[in-house]
Amino acid sequence: MSRIAYVNGQYIAHQDAAVHVEDRGYQFADGVYEVCEIWQNTIVDMPRHIDRLDRSLNELRIGWPMARSALLFIMREVVRRNRVRNGIVYIQVTRGVSRRDHFFPPDDVVPSIVITARSSNPKAADAAAEKGISVITFPENRWPRVDIKSVALLPNVLAKQTAKEQGAKEAWYFDADNNVTEGGSTNAWIVTKDGTLVTRPAENGILRGITRSVVLELVAREGIAFEERAFSVQEAKDAREAFVTAASTLVMPVIKIDDTILGNGHPGSIAMRLREQFHTATDFLTV
Ligand code: PLP
Repeated sequence: MSRIAYVNGQYIAHQDAAVHVEDRGYQFADGVYEVCEIWQNTIVDMPRHIDRLDRSLNELRIGWPMARSALLFIMREVVRRNRVRNGIVYIQVTRGVSRRDHFFPPDDVVPSIVITARSSNPKAADAAAEKGISVITFPENRWPRVDIKSVALLPNVLAKQTAKEQGAKEAWYFDADNNVTEGGSTNAWIVTKDGTLVTRPAENGILRGITRSVVLELVAREGIAFEERAFSVQEAKDAREAFVTAASTLVMPVIKIDDTILGNGHPGSIAMRLREQFHTATDFLTV
């Protein structure tokens, strides 16, 4: 079956889907995006993702490309047309197409929008979680507004590629105080030796992950000891267990940080419990 993408008003064969050479997303990374999980024919936590999209757009003073209801309709349509039962749907909005100039374009330039969807294999993801992943640590080198889900991801690309070249799946950024901020495309969590789950507050230095917010609700419901505070690279290496969260990976256990093996070298019990329980705390929109 051929894939379909939605680009500025049209459903197009994925292989032919393209944006203009003077799209500001292409030329200035002047745009934002969202990634929602598709799980068993539903879009997971769509309202939270759309609210964050709204926030990102407002922070960058980019207008909505269409009414919210129309966006929801097209997202479902793209998922449906691509017959994605499990996977992700991707939404990107940029400031639009205009003659290259750093200043904002004239008011009549409309934002560009692209929506794609693709399948993934939940069994393969669960198998990866059974093994856990390795992460490397990497000096923070991003702009301070990482709370905006901007398409300007070059530092993340370079950090994650460095991780890959070192046999790891993710790079954990650390700030000037040697505290972990977050992963290149995930939020970071540890469980201390005394069994307390710790993650950095969302006020600064991290993206306010939707998966993170769901896990926080689960943690409260399950009565897991929890502290929202900064933690250092050393504290992470001394931790009993660790994991990362994102819509594309859900809760993914970490078993190694740089050269340090955590605990017994196997995924931790809290990470696995939260992974198993994850979809009991999300909401769903049937496609
Ligand atoms: N942090 C960064 C830098 C990300 O890119 C992502 C996801 O893409 C996350 C955290 C996790 O966010 P979410 O749970 O909303 O997918």
